[in-house]
Amino acid sequence: MVGGGTAGAVLAARLSETPGLAVTLLEAGPDDDAYIPEVFDPAQAPQLWEGKGPMALTPMATETGVIPMQQGRILGGCSAMNGLATLRGQPADYDAWRAAGLKGWGWADVESTFIAAETDFDFGPSAIHGGQGPLPVRRWKQEELSRAQRAYYEGMLEVGEPHVADINDPSQLPGIGVFPVTVGADKKRVTTSLAYLTNEVRARPNFSLRTNAEVAAIAFDRSRAIGVTLESGEEVEADEVVVSAGALWSPLLLLRAGIGPADHLAEHGIATRVDLPVGRTMSDHLGPGMLYRHDGPRGGTAGPAQVVLVGASNGKDVDYHAFPIAPAPGQDATLFMMAVFSMRSSHRGSVRLGETPESGPLVTAPPLPDDTTARLGHAFERLAAWERSAAARELGCAPVVPHDLAAPDAVATALERLTLSYGHMVGTCPMGPVLDADCRVREVEGLRVCDASVMPTIPSGNTYLGCVMVAERVGRKMAAGRA
Ligand SMILES: Cc1cc2nc3c(=O)[nH]c(=O)nc-3n(C[C@H](O)[C@H](O)[C@H](O)COP(=O)(O)OP(=O)(O)OC[C@H]3O[C@@H](n4cnc5c(N)ncnc54)[C@H](O)[C@@H]3O)c2cc1C
Repeated sequence: MVGGGTAGAVLAARLSETPGLAVTLLEAGPDDDAYIPEVFDPAQAPQLWEGKGPMALTPMATETGVIPMQQGRILGGCSAMNGLATLRGQPADYDAWRAAGLKGWGWADVESTFIAAETDFDFGPSAIHGGQGPLPVRRWKQEELSRAQRAYYEGMLEVGEPHVADINDPSQLPGIGVFPVTVGADKKRVTTSLAYLTNEVRARPNFSLRTNAEVAAIAFDRSRAIGVTLESGEEVEADEVVVSAGALWSPLLLLRAGIGPADHLAEHGIATRVDLPVGRTMSDHLGPGMLYRHDGPRGGTAGPAQVVLVGASNGKDVDYHAFPIAPAPGQDATLFMMAVFSMRSSHRGSVRLGETPESGPLVTAPPLPDDTTARLGHAFERLAAWERSAAARELGCAPVVPHDLAAPDAVATALERLTLSYGHMVGTCPMGPVLDADCRVREVEGLRVCDASVMPTIPSGNTYLGCVMVAERVGRKMAAGRA
């Protein structure tokens, strides 16, 4: 297995439950005992996003500038540095996968996997929440929110958004609620490696973990993957190779192996093994970030992104998230960023080979299409109402650069000033065109992908829990096939 990140850690643990399967997990970064204190403290997540700790920095080129994208290069991957939001997405997201012909991926199939993966300390065990899964899920209490987050929550209630107690209950949406997060009783982050790669799992005789082991290439014998070559030159043989290197690095490894668009491979002098649209259909949640300031000191330190407005303009579908991001400790305590992301979009970026096949991935995101900016416009209308609310005015919340959110060019202007990525890149090796419904790469043998890359379209919630779900299901399918 290549990559012990969010999905890789889950998959390795599940596969090694089957004694007849020997699992070798190769992770480019260090083991999780190298986690720095900021990994555990949710309030310090913004420091990780700025590159503190073992990270891989990949620039994402957009029309309005480069978004420097940090990702965890360590066991647990992005689950060791993300914003901890633990959301499933909407039933319609997965029903669209099923409707596209991907058997086993509709909401009726995947909901039970989400439930089984969690222990929800607020709402489980229940019909829609688990009580025995590896991931501990909790929600911050109102008194743990920062003053800006409380003003946001109270202001949104005031302007008519309903309170949502449980954002993972689709029947309660849309409205304003607090993100569920994956933290222990001590409120410290729990990554997928901490939750799944336990001492008991590590002690299994059929499981072997190698950290600081970056895979450079997938080795083939004709059309069968037979192992990998590490950066050091060492070769590791395998009956089957599973690539879980994340949405930017998994497609890169496939492209290096000649699996990808023939024209692009030819540009780099790589012989095409299989002509597949690898890296051509990247989705992400993109949107503007606007800086605000409020009067007086900040209060509450629970985490960077706890209160979210989950918007919907189309039935129960979630069209956008808007939420305040508190500053990291040490920064101006009265500043906060209001992040607004479109959760549904026809936007497609790409991941390509860089200057040479050995370089890191070249990631580009074209301008946001009209469907996306329309959703952002809807979110701006709600934010404009919030700016006028008594709660926002009482706290003295005001944009640092004055703006009129109702102006026709408000979205375009905000996007020009600062476009953010939620870090939710998916769909670069999608099930359907590139993989079958068991995540096997088409037209070759012995090669699968299992991570954010496989998602054919982006869920309308944050993507980490979706990666856990994918890995749980791929693990089950693989174990059933080999047990
Ligand atoms: C800044 C940021 C904030 C985010 N916030 C949230 C959030 O709050 N909630 C949420 O749900 N989602 C969030 N996400 C997204 C979410 O974390 C990811 O979608 C998800 O974790 C991706 O999981 P993955 O398994 O696909 O990849 P990763 O978790 O990135 O795992 C890939 C692993 O592969 C390893 N690897 C890469 N290349 C190689 C190689 N050549 N050889 C060996 N190993 C390799 C990496 O070191 C890494 O451990 C955020 C993402 C970012 C970047």
